[in-house]
Parts: sequence; structure tokens; C-alpha cells
Amino acid sequence: MIKKAIRHIVQAEPLLFEQSSPGKRGYQLPELDVPVVDAATVLGKGNVRDEIEDFPEVSEFEVLRHFTRLSTWNYAIDLGLYPLGSCTMKYNPRVNELVARTEGLAWAHPYQPERLAQGAMEVVAALEHALVQITGMDAVTLQPAAGAHGEFTGILMIRALLETRGSARKKILVPDSAHGTNPATAMMVGYTVENIKSNDRGMIDLGLLERVVNEDVAGLMITNPNTVGVFEENIKKICQILHDKGALVYMDGANMNALVGVARPGDFGIDVMHLNLHKTFSTPHGGGGPGSGAVAVAEVLTPFLPGPRLKRQADQWAWNYDLPQSIGRVRAFYGNFGVLVRALAYIMAHGGNGLRQATLDALLNANYLRTLLEPYYQIAYNAPSMHECVFSDDRQAKEGVRTGDIAKRLIDYGFHPYTVSFPLIVRGALMIEPTETESKRELDLFADAMISIAKEVEENPELVLKAPHSTRTSRVDEVTAARKPIVRWQPPARVSQAAD
Ligand SMILES: *Cc1c(COP(=O)(O)O)cnc(C)c1O
Repeated sequence: MIKKAIRHIVQAEPLLFEQSSPGKRGYQLPELDVPVVDAATVLGKGNVRDEIEDFPEVSEFEVLRHFTRLSTWNYAIDLGLYPLGSCTMKYNPRVNELVARTEGLAWAHPYQPERLAQGAMEVVAALEHALVQITGMDAVTLQPAAGAHGEFTGILMIRALLETRGSARKKILVPDSAHGTNPATAMMVGYTVENIKSNDRGMIDLGLLERVVNEDVAGLMITNPNTVGVFEENIKKICQILHDKGALVYMDGANMNALVGVARPGDFGIDVMHLNLHKTFSTPHGGGGPGSGAVAVAEVLTPFLPGPRLKRQADQWAWNYDLPQSIGRVRAFYGNFGVLVRALAYIMAHGGNGLRQATLDALLNANYLRTLLEPYYQIAYNAPSMHECVFSDDRQAKEGVRTGDIAKRLIDYGFHPYTVSFPLIVRGALMIEPTETESKRELDLFADAMISIAKEVEENPELVLKAPHSTRTSRVDEVTAARKPIVRWQPPARVSQAAD
């Protein structure tokens, strides 16, 4: 039962081959007044494709409509709710785009001499300043190109600082609720990773932490609020435990959408953190980039920031390369400059109070959804939700339906699925982050769909197990697709069709 008439995307588009009918053309040419010559003779055999037996024959308008419809398959925040948890898929205000297209910024060249790049440098300086205020940290670099790259930069800086104290140490502690990029980063910088188990409220167990922190530990990588959407209540104490043993605390700030304008990591003792400008501060990132993983540091780490750094000199901005302790460059030029412009536009358009309101709305939306869905789905941890809520498929699993099946059924209701099976510490996780973007109406539609699916699971689990039903292809063999990918294009089997 699909109630409301809103369908964000329709995926039942036939192949062009199936739309073909003999003799259709997208053009009209006068009759030839020269002899016909075979294409292979003129172009050479190697330049003529013979692997497609029959090209589809369609009109120009049919081709246009076909590809326009296909383009809408890229589910986008501009089409509907994008509930992926951890990803912060929020509306990208159009004013960002307007500002990013300003001629002087859009056409600025990275090799432009400093005296001609003062505007672009001012953007960098203003954004660094805004992020220092938002995070409560002491300095910011905008070089890293994404969140994981920011982590890499931050851990390199921890390593550099510890080396000046005599030893880089051996281990980085990572809670079991961490994003996969955290342990990967620690390994990339040459540390071993020690996993620490969360307690039954989805938080770090202080007793356990105290036992594992010793002189071998370089630092802890912690996400706050963490990936189960829960705020680490003991964050100050956690930082204290690490600092007492000469170790540092890295905060994965990808979840800052829950904190901006409300709490500042600098105030609770974090030494270094990254922000995902492409999550918390808008910028379209559904297609995988470009991003920006700005890194903010406390005073002790400022000498190690990547260079060059901006400095003020004779009333002008200039790049300072004289940074003897810097870890060096991590990316060319100004970072992903277009993303920086959008983030600054977003921050300035909202203002301090506006940013705080966005955070409060994000929390309200997540908790509203949690309240609507809790009677039907098992909440993972009985702690207050921040900007996202995590359920498990425990109740549905009794009928043989798992989180992946529910997600696929959601496609039939016209929604992009939530994050499936992550975080790993929740068995059969459904992770939902609506962000501040969504209206009550859209949240109600989504909740209706989820509730309707929960009822289907009880009444007719087969329906859910065979979903999606509204798409051209339903279940694919995911294991074979991963193990034996076919990466070369293959001509589809010819579909015979009567002329219309
Ligand atoms: C998205 C995310 C990252 C990685 O950011 P990228 O920009 O994709 O490299 C790291 N940690 C958390 C918690 C995230 O949500």
C-alpha cells in the first residue's frame, strides 16, 4: 500500500534499444547527389564499430527525453529526503552557488600572483576565522581535500608533535563505533590500532579507557556525537585521561551538524579535529566530491600545520613559507577552493544565530523521526539521539526481513534508503539522518513509508523480501557483482519489436 502520490523518482525507463522502431531518424537530409561510399573504406576498418548489430532507431526528442529521464535517476537532495546517516545530506542554498560563480572567484587562477589574489586569500582568511570561532580551537587549515584527508593531516601533526617530545609512540585508540576511515588513517600514518569496546549506552567505557591508556598510546580518535548518534557525555574526562598520559585526542568532526552554535570541541579539550565542510556547511556531495576536510587545532599543534600559512604583511595577505616545524603541504594551491567559497557563503548567510537554529532543527527532526518510528523499529541505544537515530532490524529479522530488504522496499516508496548495516556495532543497523533541511510534511511522508513497510513485514514479508518492485532491475546478485565485475561494455541482446 503506497499512500501518498509523491514519487521522487521513476526508474521504469526502457533501454533505447527497446524504444527503437525501424526507419526513425533524428534528422532529415536531402537525397544524396554523390555516390554512396562504405564508411569503413573512408575511415578505415579499425575506426568503424561493428560489435553493435542494430543501433537503436529513434527520433531526436526520444533520445533527449530518454537521457533526461535517466539523469533523474541520480537521486538528489533536490528531489527528496536523503536520509543517509553520518553523511549529512542537506539542502544546498542557491546563494552558495551564486557566490561561487562570482566572476573574480570562479575564474581566479591558482598561480595568480599574491597581489592579484587578495580576494581569494581574504575568503580563506575569513573562513579560517569563522571555523576557529565555531570550533573553539586556535587555528584552522583549509588544505585537506576531504574528511579522511583531514584525519590523515591531523594524525601526522600528532605524530610530529610527539616526535619533538622524544617519541612518536606506537598506538592509536579507536572506539568500535568509529567510522572506517579512522582506523585506516591511523594505519596510514604508521600507527597500530587498538579497538575499544563501547558500553551498553553506545559510549566509551571510562574504566576500560583508563586501563588501556599508557605511554605507548599516541592518541584517541573519537567521533562526537559518535556514529550511533549519541553524545559522549564524559568527553572532558576522556580528554583528561589521555592528556594525563601525554597522549592527544583527535575528534572526527563529521558530525558537527549536531554541535555548531551549541557546543565547541575546543571547550571540551580536543587537540585536533576535522570538519567536513561538504557535510556540515552544505555543498553538494552525493556524487563523491569535491569535498573539504578543514582541520582545526589547539595551540600546541599550530607549529605543525601544513604550509604555507596566511599572514598579514603591509596591509596585504601573503603566504608564509617559513614554517620550520610544519608537516608540509598536503594539497596543492588553496585546497578545493570552490567548496571553501560555498562554506563561507553558507556561514555568512546564516549568521551565528542561524547556524545555531539549523543545529537545533537538525536535532528536532532526528528526534521527531525517532519518536514516530520507535513503536515499529528497535532503537539501538537507549540514550538521547542527537542529529541522527540508529535502529536495528531485530523485530523484522524475526520474520526473516533484514535492514537491506527494508531499504530496498523504501525505493518503491520513492525514497533514497537510509544507511544500511552501519555502524557495525549495531546488528542490522538502520541509520537515519534527516538534517534540518526537511519539513514536517516530508518527515511524515518518510515515517509513513517506514511504518507501512513495518506492517508489510508482519502481513506479507515476501513483498518486502522481493523489493524493489518499481525499478527496472530488482535484486541483483551482489556477491557475483563484487567478485566478478564485468567492466567492459557488452552489447545487449537485441530485443525484437514491432514497428509502431
Ligand atoms: C563522512 C565521514 C568521514 C569521511 O569523510 P570523507 O570526506 O568522505 O573523506 C569520516 N568520518 C565520519 C564520521 C564521516 O561521516
